[in-house]
Amino acid sequence: MNLALLFDEDFTASDRVKLTGRRLAHLHSVIKVKAGDQIAVGRVDGAMGTGEVIRLSDTEAELTVTLDQSPPPPLPLTLVLAMPRPKMFRRVLQTCASLGVKDLWLINSYKVEKSFWQTPWLSEQSLLDNLTLGLEQAKDTVMPRVHIRKLFKPFVEDELPALLAGKRALVAHPGTEVPCPTHLPEAAVLCVGPEGGFTPYEVGKLEEAGCQAVHLGRRILRVETAVPVLVSRLFDACL
Ligand code: SAM
Repeated sequence: MNLALLFDEDFTASDRVKLTGRRLAHLHSVIKVKAGDQIAVGRVDGAMGTGEVIRLSDTEAELTVTLDQSPPPPLPLTLVLAMPRPKMFRRVLQTCASLGVKDLWLINSYKVEKSFWQTPWLSEQSLLDNLTLGLEQAKDTVMPRVHIRKLFKPFVEDELPALLAGKRALVAHPGTEVPCPTHLPEAAVLCVGPEGGFTPYEVGKLEEAGCQAVHLGRRILRVETAVPVLVSRLFDACL
């Protein structure tokens, strides 16, 4: 937690917050703060700044906060991700939030196991908790929006074309001819496949919608590795 993300319910006055639970435990056991210390704070979807600890107990920490700095700019990327295996999903979600992805579409694909959609990590609270961890790690406040689409074809045919309008559209697919571009000067939409990859039919549908298939070299990376590699390759100037 390089920044404590503050929610409306934490505020007891416009410049005062009380922290409990996970954030309090972190202040005690990791940062080991004492009264008078300052920590980085930020209001969700708002400004960042500093919080001064004015009172600390086993049950809560009270801070006065000054919020006068802008969060880092968002990554100009819409990420379309085939739903990962639950064990990996939580980490991917945190990584996306840390990298500055603000628009994440979780889609079905032939090789996404049906059971993946049952994971409790998809509950609204779990999504919020994990995105919060990712934002706190990276010192950002702007909560990513997550869209869930459990049918591949209607998403690709009916919704994807509008998402691609005016943007560079790519599908990461091993073994294609075109290397993934670097230093993109424009906003992009990037599709990343499941553990077993997109099927040829799915790559064809994504290409029909306007995506260009690109590769990252001969090494096939896990989704949790491929996402940060692709993002840093496309947008190194933004990181
Ligand atoms: N056997 C699968 C295949 O050949 O498509 C491997 C899938 S990989 C574990 C999961 C996803 O990460 C891929 O669908 C792709 O979107 C992305 N990816 C991983 N390595 C890649 C590479 N070398 N080039 C392009 N995309 C890659």
